[in-house]
Amino acid sequence: MSDALAPARLRVAPSPTGDPHVGTAYMALFNLAYARRSGGQFVLRIEDTDRARYTAGSEQQIFDTLRWLGLGWDEGPDCGGPYGPYRQSERLDVYGSFASQLIESGHAYYCWCTPERLAALREAQAASKTPLTGYDRLCYGKTREERAALPGFAGQPVVRMLIPDDVELVFTDLVRGPVSAPRPDDQVIVKADGFPTYHLAVVVDDHLMGITHVVRGEEWISSTPKHVLLYKWLGWEAPAFAHLPLLRNADRSKISKRKNPAARLAWFREQGYLPEALRNFLQLMGYPPVSDTEIATFDEFAAGFDWAKVNTVGPVFDLAKLNWLNGHYIRSLSPEELADRIEAYLLEQGQWPNQPSERDRALLRGGAALVQERLQLLSEALPKLAFLWAADDAVTTAADAQAQLGADAPAILAAAEAALAGLAEFTGEAVETALRAALVDALGLKPRLAFTPVRVALTGQRVSPPLFESMALLGPASCQTRLRSLRAALA
Ligand code: GLU
Repeated sequence: MSDALAPARLRVAPSPTGDPHVGTAYMALFNLAYARRSGGQFVLRIEDTDRARYTAGSEQQIFDTLRWLGLGWDEGPDCGGPYGPYRQSERLDVYGSFASQLIESGHAYYCWCTPERLAALREAQAASKTPLTGYDRLCYGKTREERAALPGFAGQPVVRMLIPDDVELVFTDLVRGPVSAPRPDDQVIVKADGFPTYHLAVVVDDHLMGITHVVRGEEWISSTPKHVLLYKWLGWEAPAFAHLPLLRNADRSKISKRKNPAARLAWFREQGYLPEALRNFLQLMGYPPVSDTEIATFDEFAAGFDWAKVNTVGPVFDLAKLNWLNGHYIRSLSPEELADRIEAYLLEQGQWPNQPSERDRALLRGGAALVQERLQLLSEALPKLAFLWAADDAVTTAADAQAQLGADAPAILAAAEAALAGLAEFTGEAVETALRAALVDALGLKPRLAFTPVRVALTGQRVSPPLFESMALLGPASCQTRLRSLRAALA
């Protein structure tokens, strides 16, 4: 570290409301970077107080996808830590006393209005085009009995913040400098079911967990003045705030799970992206490249991390860039590592026998090395290599491959069979030498014309991984059977 920073505590605080959003990983990445840069801690907190939107299984998906990306946490619901519990539903007894304290000090009040009354109020405000919007404070200053005498009374009250006229609307953002937010409404902080809303829980937890920097998406800018008020009323020092720009589609709309499959973090794994490529990509989405090539490890990114460099304009989610990065990371693996990644991917996606045999593995290892240069996604490997596992007497010939076969194809295939029959060693080089001698030199064919029937016989395709190495992988018996089968089919 070039200069000494105070060890900071940061957190990512996703709500388990469904398949994790790519934005959660993006936030985790930046929070983690500063935690590492300052020698502090990174906390995972699960914000599950919205029971209506709670989705079982979502929390596990959050754990799995963040871990897959290498964005592990120092404290969290699964591993515990000194400030636990880290799941808000397990902290419900914590929030009540702070709500009571705010009511007693006059900063918050009970509200018994029914949802119907509030909806009618909103409609009337919209229709009259009054500049006054938000809650009309009908309940403020009233006892339960006084309020019960009026229409639209609900038995179970909520608790609202009493936003003062002189509420401070400007706050300093680490990334944006001074930011001005709109005037807030009298925010509900405890719901009728007794659960705190996000606003109360987030402030209480960030304080009790010693969070020094609140780093989150720009959609929370408008909430920050309310949070700052809560800190002030509770007599606590507010943390530093940084609001990162939201990821955008090419048309600048915000990335949503409804409109863009790439909004789902799991999508990248299903498509065959490498976690290191996605992590590098997300770094570039919010931060200038830390190297000339745009390729950088997490440690390189974290080592010089500086809030002043974070983008404030919503970065466009450019899949072409991600694909390029993925190709780069695929090529930087050793062929063995690549084969292991492909195998793990195929098993995970249920596209591979549960117990691959030694031969399956050997073919995959050899095949991975052949396609490594041309692969952008792990998912492209099996379609390119499927011919390795075809039954030798039943290789399916694609229509466009069939169309490439001329009248001399049977003769070429016969010559290839004869040339390979006597080979002492069956390496790619030996196969190439034998086939060149028999087809190009002896038959006087152009290489492309000579090898096309052989390629089609072996792979069923017009385009394939390098032919001679593929043949060496298949071995002499398979090659002979495949050559003979196509010749028989053409007869
Ligand atoms: N639970 C909030 C979310 O889902 C966290 C916002 C924050 O980081 O304060 O985005």
